[in-house]
Amino acid sequence: MGRVPITVMGFRCERCGHEWVPRDPEATPKVCPKCKSPYWDRPNRKPLLSYAEFRDQTQKVLRRAAKPITWTEIRTAAGFPQLYPNNAWVRRMERDINLVRERDPHGIMQWRLGERGTEQARCLATRD
Ligand SMILES: [Zn+2]
Repeated sequence: MGRVPITVMGFRCERCGHEWVPRDPEATPKVCPKCKSPYWDRPNRKPLLSYAEFRDQTQKVLRRAAKPITWTEIRTAAGFPQLYPNNAWVRRMERDINLVRERDPHGIMQWRLGERGTEQARCLATRD
């Protein structure tokens, strides 16, 4: 009889890297047996973005673009984690940085800064 490695299915904690073989292979563990994290099966996400960071990044990207661009372009350029923009934040940016969103002739939503945007932002920046 030869010696062979035998593979068993187990789990790996996304938080601490601990690997283990469960007693009941059918049940999903509730916590990692080592670090006790209930989020053992979810990778650590980046800390959530605050509105101020989101607004400033969006503004920076739009200024650099100097032409209307899509949310996907903004998201890629700024490295935003969220797939879709948060509606409440979009409304706030319409007020704060004079964000303008318009559909182009192809029906694609384009983002840009309105004329007032840069002035207003400069006032905000000096006030802080
Ligand atoms: Zn763990």
